[in-house]
Amino acid sequence: MAIVLDRDQGIKSELEDRIGLECPYCGVHAHMQPQSIPDASSLLRDKPKHVGLVYKCDACNAPVFLRFAVRQYDDNKVELYRNFIELERPKERFAFSYLPKHTEVLFREALSCYSNNNFNAFSSMCRRASVSAFEAMGEGGKLRAFEEVVVAQDIAGIEDEAFAPIKKVLFSTGTHEELPLLNRAQAGILLEVLKDMFYQCFVRRGKLTRAIKVRRFFVTEANNDHAASA
Ligand SMILES: [Zn+2]
Repeated sequence: MAIVLDRDQGIKSELEDRIGLECPYCGVHAHMQPQSIPDASSLLRDKPKHVGLVYKCDACNAPVFLRFAVRQYDDNKVELYRNFIELERPKERFAFSYLPKHTEVLFREALSCYSNNNFNAFSSMCRRASVSAFEAMGEGGKLRAFEEVVVAQDIAGIEDEAFAPIKKVLFSTGTHEELPLLNRAQAGILLEVLKDMFYQCFVRRGKLTRAIKVRRFFVTEANNDHAASA
């Protein structure tokens, strides 16, 4: 299952050499094909532990840089593990413009921590973003947000035990030192729950208010036209 870089024949893979990946540029889950491959003879000479390959996204043609660990060096070839590290991760997207300014700044940084796999920095920033959101929502805001999160937990069918650390990050009043350590899976849940909470508390309201304002505007315009032609 390994990828092989041969001194004479270049890249060879026992499967096919394409891989499927979410592209950090276009966001599409696309096939990637090797575009730039290190010279096998220089690898055989220097024997680095890791090797970088540039793949090309089939959807947008952007270059995607991946790092592979070397499995073994033979006389004429280098064998790589198939697992790789993505040096650029896809950015998490959100309708930031609907958030209060302060919350937007903090939440953007939270998502940047997440994209870089810094899950506990992410969790600390989620705490700051949610506190700023509760302040912006005014009296009763935190309780309303809590109710939205309980609904989200119910919809997603997440057990109380698995959900406890998420609730603690968002709603406990303890210090940052008391925040639970999150692993990748828990951080993923926190990400989706907080996105949903912000959506329900800000984005939905903002979109709906704007859409209704536009409808009213056209009704008024139509009435004016009608009045003018009558
Ligand atoms: Zn792409």
